[in-house]
Amino acid sequence: MAQAAAEEKSGKVVIKNIGLLLSGDLDRPILDADTVVVQDGIITAVGKEKDCDTAQPDLLIDVRKTCLAPGLIDSHVHPVFGDWTPRQNQLGWIESTMNGGVTTMISAGEVHLPGRPKDIVGLKALAITAQRAFDSFRPGGVKVLAGAPVIEKGMTEQDFKELADAGVKLLGEVGLGSVKAGEEAQKMVAWARKYGIQSTIHTGGPSIPGSGLIDKDVVLEADADIIGHINGGHTSLSEAHVCELCEKSTRGIEIVHNGNEKVAIAAAQHAIHLKCPHRVILGTDGPAGSGVQPLGILRMIALLSSLGNIPAELVFCFATGNTARMRNLNCGLIEPGRAADFVFMDRAQHTAGRDLLDSVRLGDIPGIGMVMIDGLVRCHRSRNTPPATEVPVIVSGHA
Ligand SMILES: [Zn+2]
Repeated sequence: MAQAAAEEKSGKVVIKNIGLLLSGDLDRPILDADTVVVQDGIITAVGKEKDCDTAQPDLLIDVRKTCLAPGLIDSHVHPVFGDWTPRQNQLGWIESTMNGGVTTMISAGEVHLPGRPKDIVGLKALAITAQRAFDSFRPGGVKVLAGAPVIEKGMTEQDFKELADAGVKLLGEVGLGSVKAGEEAQKMVAWARKYGIQSTIHTGGPSIPGSGLIDKDVVLEADADIIGHINGGHTSLSEAHVCELCEKSTRGIEIVHNGNEKVAIAAAQHAIHLKCPHRVILGTDGPAGSGVQPLGILRMIALLSSLGNIPAELVFCFATGNTARMRNLNCGLIEPGRAADFVFMDRAQHTAGRDLLDSVRLGDIPGIGMVMIDGLVRCHRSRNTPPATEVPVIVSGHA
């Protein structure tokens, strides 16, 4: 379990001979460029090799005409501490997920902590501790944005101010705690928003014994920033109610792996029908009863593209640029000034698809040949995906 040292810098990285450059931007999903230049973890140039300053790199990578895309963002995870999940008593799940192309994860609450405190002082302390712990520990280099308190009855505006002042930027899923009524949730979500804390609401039936139903009326009234697992986690609202949420709310439409797959496709298609595909973001909702899914985001991309009949290059944007924009992250797009978080992919060996995008459209997941976070190589050929046909080669320098 490699841990990124905060002081480690990539120096100058030149990535050349890119065959397909996915931008993460729905409005321009494929870029006409073959070269990306990085300086100390930040993209400085994207273009044709002859137009970029490629001199004297510390690291030169030949992508061998394969695909470069922004690192995938999992909008909905439940970390606890370190690279351990008590939900399935599994070690190394975050590093394993990095082998599935995920470079950033967003906590929807550290809800699986054994003995999780539910009193107000305790839940605030846990959130602040989780935020600090994951800020300085990156399993496999993955950026885990954690410290997402589960709100409980009795919290006051001052509590949200204190959390924000202490560096907390997220709420855990609204509805997992004792605040389940729309009016009460709306008040607290508004306090959170006032202090710059983003909110997500649980949508649908109970996840596990002990949690409860959040129906469409509560979701609409609470007005959280993200309609968390709109396709249920696991049990979904009816397709009609999910479509109504897409129509009546303007908030993020989060579709997760650990939800209802039929409704996942319906929600994505309905967002496109409503001309608001920019709101669609993807998560796994793992670890959960369904376990840990290192390839969960890739599987969502293949599901929505193949059975949902949505072009693969657009679905990749759901898991990258859309999430970055809705979550205010400096990653998720291939453009100068953004974090150099990349996944290098090619069509899996022996897929029926003639190229990467065609293989995804046919329902196959890609093979990952390399993952880079902040310009640092975090894995070479993925140990979890099917093998990529071609993988990038390091021409010079150390990775
Ligand atoms: Zn949930």
